[in-house]
This record gives sequence, structure tokens and C-alpha cells, in this order.
Amino acid sequence: MKITVFGSGYVGLVTGVCLADAGNHVLCVDVDAERIATLEVGRCPFYEPGVEDLLARNARAGRMRFTTDPAAGVEHGEILFIAVGTPPQEDGSADLQYVLAVARTIGQHMRDYRVICTKSTVPVGTSRKVRETVASALAARGVVVDFDVVSNPEFLKEGAAVEDFMRPDRIIVGTDSARALHLMRALYAPFNRNHDRLMAMDVESAELTKYAANAMLATRISFMNELALLAEKVGADIEAVRRGIGSDPRIGYQFLYAGCGYGGSCFPKDVKALIHTGAEQGVTLGILKAVEQANAHQKTLLFTRIKAHLGSVRGKTIALWGLAFKPNTDDMREAPSRVLMEALWAEGATVHAYDPIAMEATRRLYGPRPDLILADSAEAACEGADALVLVTEWAQFRSPDFAAIKARMRNPAIFDGRNLYDPGTLRALGFHYQGIGRKG
Ligand code: NAD
Repeated sequence: MKITVFGSGYVGLVTGVCLADAGNHVLCVDVDAERIATLEVGRCPFYEPGVEDLLARNARAGRMRFTTDPAAGVEHGEILFIAVGTPPQEDGSADLQYVLAVARTIGQHMRDYRVICTKSTVPVGTSRKVRETVASALAARGVVVDFDVVSNPEFLKEGAAVEDFMRPDRIIVGTDSARALHLMRALYAPFNRNHDRLMAMDVESAELTKYAANAMLATRISFMNELALLAEKVGADIEAVRRGIGSDPRIGYQFLYAGCGYGGSCFPKDVKALIHTGAEQGVTLGILKAVEQANAHQKTLLFTRIKAHLGSVRGKTIALWGLAFKPNTDDMREAPSRVLMEALWAEGATVHAYDPIAMEATRRLYGPRPDLILADSAEAACEGADALVLVTEWAQFRSPDFAAIKARMRNPAIFDGRNLYDPGTLRALGFHYQGIGRKG
């Protein structure tokens, strides 16, 4: 099939390369000319395992092209995916300007039937707005062209995006059009061979499903984070509690890790947007407000604890392991490391940081500054440090040489924001150790 994807970010580009790999002819459109130029020379503008290989293979096979010309995009695809950003606005609602800008462009150029498929995470009611925007752009041209709008929310995880797209748990297709559903089924057939994972539903349910999924996951994290604080007070260990409740199949083990808070481009903004949708409809989503509040508190926890241990952080050197909001990505959006670093800087500390992938993104974010030193290795970050903080649980941080690290540090203290280490082992090695909700 011929497919156009508007937006070449994490979601758009992964959608594009995976659909091309299944044999479709994909044209990716982006307003960012620099991004398109990068893609044209076969480079992925962000870190995502597997994308560059798929890019190269499918570009070579002539199935993958890039453009900044939206008219060419509208002309090319029978299915037009909208995969642009929907960032939060001041009031927490999702900013739909990019989605609706694409819808307008489509209406301005469309000449034949198209399926317009929203992959961006958008509040309930957005498909209707997309439909109205396309219709009014068509009306302004004085033409009548048939089209359908489909909601097809994306559930991929950054860091495992290709795998998630290739082997999805479910494919949600929200539409009231049999014709559009038929085309979507055909498109997704190669990703749906093992058993039918495609769930057809009405548009509103599809739109709400995406928010419900992210809100549920964020809720599990905040629930465990609050429980971890209680565990510390009552002398319980949250890791034991996690295993204890995870073994119940009604609960399961996933997303029950206490830590220094959730971040990323999705959970924070989607929880906010859902709360806002609730308020618009006169429904108080009290649980989600608490989820957000608990997370904001959790993100300040490491700083509070480091300061309490050191007395003051002024003039101190704090080593950070991990900067990205989670492993296997360079995404720094809403990362807990940012809250920690900014609090440390505000009180006169110097940060020695190391992340396997997100150093360049950090450099872009903060620019050169004397109180941020990006180290060449995890061990080098510990040189002269008054505390080491594990912020992102990259695999390479799992079994470090603690003796070598201790020898490099000025003060052997480890604050483990992801409960990666065994408290007893580290204390036996002479470290001051603090996890989140751990015993002792
Ligand atoms: P992103 O910021 O990485 O990429 C968005 C891209 O859209 C940018 O390259 C931007 O230049 C481009 N763009 C903006 N306006 C455009 C226009 N008019 N025409 C063409 N391109 C345009 O965003 P992302 O992380 O890929 O997220 C996209 C959407 O998918 C969001 O709604 C997000 O909530 C949702 N989502 C994201 C993830 C994730 O893990 N990142 C997962 C599921 C869903």
C-alpha cells in the first residue's frame, strides 16, 4: 500500500520504517527540514534501537522516502497517518495545533478518497475536530472529496519501539467506516498473523483507551511510590512487597517498581490531559490528581535525601548515573534527572553525570555550564564525588565494581533511585546506602 506519515518523531518514524519493512511504500513528511535532511542521508535523528537498520534497508529498497512537501504527502498515501506532537498547554490540556495543522493541509490538497488516521495521542473528540477541519478546508476549495477519519493510537515504548510495533499486544482501530476498517485491517495484517490483535471500536473509545492505558500505568507507579514511603516508616521492604503482590495474577509484576518518579513525553502529559478532559466534562478524576501529585513529590525525593545526608550540597560534587527518563532512549523530556540536577545547581553543587546515550541530548538541553561535567565513563563520574545517585537503570549500571567506585569517591554514599542494588551488600562494603522504600 502507499502510506504517508506526517511527523517523523519517535512514533511517526517507527511507524514509517516498520510499515515500509512490511512492503508498503512510505513517504514521511516533516516540517523540520533539518530532520528530513538527516533522514535522507540514512541517519535517525534520535536514539532508538533498530530504526537506523530499517531505515537503510527500506530506503535501499526504494520503499522509504522523505519530504517537507505536505502536498506530495497528501497525494502519495491512501492512508495518511498523523503522528505529530501533542504537547501539554499551560492548563494541562493537549495542544492540538500540530494535529489540526496537518488536517488543514490534507483538506487543502486532497483530491481522492483518503483514510486519515490519527496516531498522535489526542483527547476524546479530536477525530471529530480533524473531520471538521478537513471538511472546512475542502469546502473553502469548493470541492467534495470523500474521506474517513480513524483513531489508531500508538502503544509503543521508547527503547523497544520497533519490537513493540512489529509485535503489538493490540492494534486499536476506532472508526465508524467499514471501508476504512477494511483498509486498516489490510495494512496491519502482516503484524497480526499469530492471532487477531486488531480491536475495532468506536472512535471515542479508541481515543480514551490510549489515555486510560497510560493513566493506569502511571497510577501503578505512583501507588508503589507512596507505599514505598510507608514501607520505610513501618520497617517493611517495598521490594518484598512488590514480589508479594505481583505474584497475584490479578495484579501481575509489571510496573510495580518504586523509584524516583516517572517521566518521559507521555505519562506526565497524558495524565494531565485526561484530568483536563475530566474537568471539561464535570468529572473529577481524583485518583489521577493524586497520581500526579505523588509523582511530583517523588521526583524531589533524591535531592531531599542527599541534602539531609550531606547537611548542605553547596560546593559538593554529586555523581549521577543515568540522565534519560528511562533506559535505552536519549529522551530527556520530564526526566527525573532534570529535577535533581536543577535542585542541586540551585544550591551550589556540581554534577558529574554519565549516561550511555543521553549525554548529547543533555548538552543540547543545558548548554555548557561549569556545574555540569559530563564524564567519559560511569567510573569517571564518581571521581571526587560526595554521593553517587543512580537515576536511570541502564543495564550497564547493574553490577559495577563497587570497590573501584568507592576508591574514587570522596564520600562513599549511594542513593539508588531505582532500587537496583542490594542494601546489605553495599552497606557491608562500607557505603551509606539509601534506596526507595528499602528496609533499614
Ligand atoms: P516528536 O516530538 O518526537 O515528533 C513529532 C514530529 O512531528 C516532529 O519531528 C515535528 O517536527 C513534526 N511535526 C510537527 N508539525 C508537523 C506538521 N504540520 N507536519 C509534519 N510534521 C510535523 O513526537 P513523538 O514522541 O513521536 O509523539 C507523537 C505523538 O505520539 C504524540 O501525540 C505522543 O503523545 C504520541 N505517542 C508517543 C509515544 C512515545 O513513546 N514517544 C508513544 C505513543 C504515543
